[in-house]
Parts: sequence; structure tokens; C-alpha cells
Amino acid sequence: MSASSHALLGPSSAKRWLSCTPSARLTESIEDTESTFAAEGTDAHALCEYKLRKAVGLSVPDVSPKLEYYSKEMEDCADDYVSFILELYEEAKTKCKDPLVLVEQYLDLGKYVPESFGTGDALIASDGTLYIIDYKYGKGVSVDAKENPQMKLYALGALEIFDSLYDIKEVSMTIYQPRLGNVSTFAMKKDDLYKWANEIVKPKAVDAFKGIGEFHCGAWCQFCKARATCRERANSNLKLASKDFADPPLLTDEEVEEVLGKVDELTSWAEEVKAYALDEALKGKKWNGYKVVEGRSIRKYSNESEVAKTVEDAGFDPFDKKLLSITEMQKRIGKSKFIELLDRFVVKPQGKPTLVQESDKRPEFSTAAADFKTDNMEEN
Ligand code: SF4
Repeated sequence: MSASSHALLGPSSAKRWLSCTPSARLTESIEDTESTFAAEGTDAHALCEYKLRKAVGLSVPDVSPKLEYYSKEMEDCADDYVSFILELYEEAKTKCKDPLVLVEQYLDLGKYVPESFGTGDALIASDGTLYIIDYKYGKGVSVDAKENPQMKLYALGALEIFDSLYDIKEVSMTIYQPRLGNVSTFAMKKDDLYKWANEIVKPKAVDAFKGIGEFHCGAWCQFCKARATCRERANSNLKLASKDFADPPLLTDEEVEEVLGKVDELTSWAEEVKAYALDEALKGKKWNGYKVVEGRSIRKYSNESEVAKTVEDAGFDPFDKKLLSITEMQKRIGKSKFIELLDRFVVKPQGKPTLVQESDKRPEFSTAAADFKTDNMEEN
């Protein structure tokens, strides 16, 4: 994971630079700011690496005491990940006498993408199938392995090492994202992967490396460092804002549908522009007609232990004993203990209705159930 972040055309940003080839050069000098989530992810990977190496019999020092974001949840997720890999390894052993597990393997992609490389979290090389497993600790967006260019590039890098050593027919790529319960696997024939590499990746990578080609907006823009100031993205979003909804006075169903299709992208772009402008203003930039002010703030105690003592001394109880939330409880007692003790008490009330695109994987909201509830409430 770490190595890929330093390549101009790294696998983790492949969806973006394959879709919008000039984006890599456009953004190469824009500063990269590491979020808390990224730092937590780095720790989670380090823990997985340690546990997997240990599980395959290597002598490695325990990294957990050094991890800033270490938690019981991180430990449980890493254990589950290791069990998953060991299961795949057992599966590989049924078809191959000497499969090999590799951990945090450097992958050279230079044959297809100039100066590119990455790191495979876990690989299992065996006759028949080459397995690629990518661990994602984040829980923001569920990542699909299907036709995922990051995974396909890792697979190409792994084939460079193992294609001559094993009789590989297909590659199986898995994204293991434990905090979302997402284990997404996509398999494809090795020859189809090589075809994609030669016909799609190679020419796009040449353009991306030179910084030429067409700018092209899409979902990948959200991970682009130019997302707030990119002219192509601004033009694309402003096209909707400047659309001339003339007569009749009320929008037609088709026009509402048109707005719905673009409104998420439009609002997230607007938020990103605002965040960028604030960030720059805090660094000293003066925007004409704007100034930075203090937002609303909420009162808080300057010293909580002193407050508790003072209230107790005055004869009152300063504490309100509350049950931990499901997430906090799971963190405290661990995932397996949580399932053992409390799973039977966990219910999931019906969520608030949300309008999403038809391609969304969630089943359609049952308006019948909601109507029934409303009717009953009205009768009572
Ligand atoms: S914001 Fe989108 S369109 Fe603009 S450079 Fe980045 S990826 Fe390309």
C-alpha cells in the first residue's frame, strides 16, 4: 500500500488516471495531506502484515505496541483477514502441491505502466489460480473487486513474478473490507488480463505519463487532488447550474430526473470548492468579498475531573450511567465476544427512506410496510 502511493501512476489511483489521463501530471505537484483515516489504515495494514507473517511461520516482532490507532476492533479484523487467507491457502493446496503465500510483496508494473509499482497485501501463487488479496480497513465506501483496475494491476505485477513458475490459468482478486462486512471477489482468465493490459492500460499509461489526453469527469474525481479547482469538473457541474429551465413554469418529471442525476455530484463539488477556499484563506489567501470568522461553538468543561470532584463534594452525582453504543461495545469486548453474548439483542429498525439511483445494490424500500405502520398509528 505504501509503495503505490509514491508512483505517479500507482495502482491505487488507476481508475482515475485511466479515465482522465492528464490528471496524474496535473496533480503531481499538489500537496498530499494524510488524513487520520489513512494513518489508521496504515496501522491496520501493519498489524495484518505482522499476523499473516506469523501465521505462515515467520518469526516477526509484534508491532501492536507501536501502533497509534491500535484497538480491539483492529485486532479482530486482522485475525479475520488472516483466517480468510489461510482458507484460500488450504483451497490452493487441494490443486497445487507447493502453493506460496507472499505478504506485502513489491510488484513491478513497469512493463505496462511507466515507472509504476505497487504492493500486494497478500498473494497466493499456485497452479491454476493466482490469488490477490487487498485489505481495506476503511469503512467509508464499499469497494467492489469487479473489473477493479487497482486489483487487475496488482495481478499483472504478480504474474510478472509467478507466471513462469506456476501453471496459472486465472487470477482471483479479492477486496477484504472487514468493517463493512465486504468480501468482494472477481476472477478472470489470465489471457483476458493480458489483453486488457496491452490494449487498454499500455496506451492510456503512455498518455497519462506524458500528461496528455482528454480530461474526463466521473466518480473518480472525488479522489483527485484537483477536484476543487479542476476546470473540466467545474464546467461539467456549472452546465447544470446554468441550464435554462424555461417554460412551462413547473419542471417536468424528466427535468426533475435530470436534476436528480446530477445533484449529488454538484453538491459534493460545491462543498469541495468551499473547503478548498477556506483552507487557502486559513493559509493567508484573501478572497475578494470574503473573510474568515469564528463559527458557533459549544460550551465545555476545561477540567472534567475537577468538575466531577466539585459536584461530588457538593453532594451530587455528576455521572449519568449509560449503556455503550453497539460500536463502542464491540470495540470494548471484541467482535467474537460481542456476537457470542449480544448478537441476539441486536435489531435493525427500518432505515429512513432515501432516493438513490436504480443501480444501487440495496433492495427497494417497502412502502407497503411503511403504509401499514402509518395506518396502524392512525387507527390507534
Ligand atoms: S477532477 Fe476529475 S476531470 Fe479534473 S483532473 Fe481530476 S479526475 Fe480529471
